Amino acid sequence: MHIQILGAHNLESLQTRLTCMLLDNVIAFDAGALTSTLTLPQQKLIKHLLITHKHFDHVRDLLTLGINTRKEGMSMIYSIEEVLKPIKEHYLDGKLYPDFTKVPDVAPKFNLVEVSHDEPFEVGDYEVTPIKVKHGVPAVGFLVKGDKKSFFYSGDCGGEIARSLHDERIDVLFTEVTFSDESMDEAIRRGHMTPAILAGQLLELDPKPEKIVVLHMDPTQQVKIKQEISIFADTTGMDISLGREGQIIEI
Ligand SMILES: [Zn+2]
Ligand SMILES: [Zn+2]
Repeated sequence: MHIQILGAHNLESLQTRLTCMLLDNVIAFDAGALTSTLTLPQQKLIKHLLITHKHFDHVRDLLTLGINTRKEGMSMIYSIEEVLKPIKEHYLDGKLYPDFTKVPDVAPKFNLVEVSHDEPFEVGDYEVTPIKVKHGVPAVGFLVKGDKKSFFYSGDCGGEIARSLHDERIDVLFTEVTFSDESMDEAIRRGHMTPAILAGQLLELDPKPEKIVVLHMDPTQQVKIKQEISIFADTTGMDISLGREGQIIEI
């Protein structure tokens, strides 16, 4: 499993990209940083897009990827109905840009594939299971199992990871910490995690993943987030790191 982190933040700037990662160059997890970080030949390789929820920072590059790769054959967009419906009605609706579920005519660029909570489906060589996660809007994380290894990508998530995973063993957990503990109230209100909330989840998780990679950081709070996570990682010995744009992780 060859994973490339394309975006590790919740805000885009010259130095930061929106949360997004790529598996084996062909399977994208969320669509926040596909066209701003990949070359056109790399964008053409993307055949599957797993979208966690409707928030704009996770779907934005569907339109730019659509126009860039419209002549390169169909790509599948997978998610639950509560995510696909608003994407179709408000983003891939043909009002501001072509509706890539209909364009080009003969073989449209995007095919929306509705999936259900806890029901595994196949993507390439992997078994993928959408798992409901706690957030401000309907959202799923994706449990991805290969021959020997597995990981869970939570997307935006306000906690309850242990409950969502039902004691499933995973090698790597990709999850979010948007705010530092100083913004705990805002994190709870918006359905995001702070280091203390993540720490509570990791203590509950059994079995524990070998590695935890944190994404979706607010860049203005990143220094504090790193300090707070380091204290927990040092006291528990757990391998927890902040993801960064361009980082490659082999599982
Ligand atoms: Zn969100
Ligand atoms: Zn987000």
